[in-house]
This record gives sequence, C-alpha cells and structure tokens, in this order.
Amino acid sequence: ATPTIAFIGLGNMGNPMAANLVKAGHAVLGFDLVPENLTMAKDHGVTVMANAAAAVKDADVVITMLPAGKHVLAVYDDIAPKAKAGSLFIDSSTIDVESARKAHAIAQKNGHASVDAPVSGGTGGASAGTLTFMAGGAEDAFARAEPVLKPMAGRIVHCGGDGAGQAAKICNNMLLGISMIGVAEAFVLAEKLGLSHQALFDVASTSSGQCWSLTTYCPVPGPVPASPANKDYKPGFAAALMLKDLKLSQEAAQASGAVTPLGAEAAQLYALFNAQGGAGTDFSGIINFLRGDAA
Ligand code: NAD
Repeated sequence: ATPTIAFIGLGNMGNPMAANLVKAGHAVLGFDLVPENLTMAKDHGVTVMANAAAAVKDADVVITMLPAGKHVLAVYDDIAPKAKAGSLFIDSSTIDVESARKAHAIAQKNGHASVDAPVSGGTGGASAGTLTFMAGGAEDAFARAEPVLKPMAGRIVHCGGDGAGQAAKICNNMLLGISMIGVAEAFVLAEKLGLSHQALFDVASTSSGQCWSLTTYCPVPGPVPASPANKDYKPGFAAALMLKDLKLSQEAAQASGAVTPLGAEAAQLYALFNAQGGAGTDFSGIINFLRGDAA
C-alpha cells in the first residue's frame, strides 16, 4: 500500500513538497505552527492536523522541513515516542551535522529508521518536483526513503551514513559561497582595469576560471541572461540563506578540526553584506558590496 506520510513544517519549501506527495497518491497528514500555511496545505489536498503528535500517530513516514537544528530536535523529542513503531523519519531541513546526528539517535532510540535528506533547488524545484536530495543514513533506511522522495525529486544521492547528507550540503554550499566571491572579485578587478564584462566572461567561461557561479549565476548583467543580476538581484538564492549555510560550514569546521580559511572569510563577507541590506537580495549581489555600492 502507498505509505501514509506525516509532514511537519509546511513553509515555503514544505508546502509545495507536500503537494507533490499528495499528487503522487499519498495520504499526507500535515502540521505547521502558522495557520496560513495550514490553509494553503489544505488547498493542496493535505489533511491538516491539530498538532505534530496527531499527524504522526497513523503515519508510516514522517517528513520534517523546519528552519534549523533546534526546531528539528524539539519536534523529534516530541513525536518520536508517539509515532508508530518502525516508522521512517526523514528530515529535509538544512541543519548542522551535529544536530542531524542527534536527530538520528532520537529516532533510532524510539525504534524508527532515519534519513537526513536536505535539498537543493529552492522553492522553484520544490514546486516542480525536481529537488536534488542529499541523503545520509543506513542502506535499508535509504532504500525505504528513496521511493517516498521520488515525487519531489529530480535527483537523489545517497552520500553515506547518518549526517552525510547534511555534510554534503554544507560542503557544496561553502564552495559555492567562496566561488561566487571569487567570480565577483574578478569582475570588480576587470572593471578597474578597463576590461568589459563580456570579454572577461568569454575568456574565463572557456578557461580555467570556469565555474557555476560564472556560467549559470553570473553576478553581472549581460553575459548570462537568466542570472539574477539581470533582474536587479531578485533571488534566486537569498544572501540570508547563503549566510546560514556558511555559518553551518564554519561550525562543522570548528567541531571537526578542518581548516577552512576561505570559508571563514566568505562567512564574514556575507555577514557584512547581509547587515548592510543585502539579506533579501540574491547572493550574487555581493558584487555590489565588493564594489562598495549599497546593496
Ligand atoms: P520556512 O520558514 O518557510 O518554513 C519552515 C516552517 O516550519 C515554517 O512554516 C514554520 O512555521 C514551521 N515550524 C517551525 N517550528 C515548527 C514546529 N515546532 N512545528 C511545526 N512547524 C514548525 O522555511 P523554508 O524556506 O521552507 O526552509 C525550510 C528548510 O529548508 C530550512 O532549513 C532551509 O534552510 C532549507 N532550504 C530552503 C531553501 C529555500 O530556497 N527556501 C532551499 C533549500 C533548503
């Protein structure tokens, strides 16, 4: 039979994700603290429940899509003892690796299988059902999670054991933050040297400087017409979320003893950019901050 799914956290990401599970034929029992989100979920065919415990009571699979580690641990403490024995817990929030491992422990202590499965692809990918899932957990837990994630996914990668999904997510996003600053600095220097944006793009995009931040998310308008720079840096991927992920990467670096000086510098630059008004703009808008212009 098609598993019944409890979905806790029906925000910008959770709502469209739950809608795709309903479309795929799952009964979805949903809960969120915000009444408007529950109304929207109801319109998508989700059965709205009075609280998280009521949502998980008859579910085979529990999916959480919450802001941060502390929310996930509080919800897990509440619901793990109340869920059906042998349920599958999937957390798709982006959280710190340490909390992710604690969440696995809470689920497993209560007799459930567990997977951490953060996503990339944003709200557009959530609506289209084309998210990339980075999963961490035991082989058999992942095997159970894969068909559940499929209606929400373009790609599902099993990265390793408990916490490996979160580890992959923050390593990737630390690299992304660093590479965007690198590309932006190259354009700022080019401007001072009298080199056109297009000339730098034509050379670097087919040379050793080539990367996603240049060729897909180019931080100056023109060379890549679909990049946020062409829409006044409307996100896209907001600078506030980039800062969140860079902070997570630095917490993980500190806890594990990894040396990531460029990650640390990127976190500081994004913190300043956020503080100076950039938080709601796309993360590629950091080029304006590097030029000394207002966000
Ligand atoms: P959001 O703030 O829109 O949604 C989070 C929801 O969790 C809110 O509706 C909130 O009311 C709810 N919530 C908080 N505590 C709760 C509790 N105890 N019980 C029930 N509901 C509770 O955030 P979002 O944009 O949907 O992001 C969710 C997660 O996905 C975050 O970890 C974020 O970093 C990650 N993420 C977001 C994006 C994006 O583009 N928005 C992309 C990739 C990953």
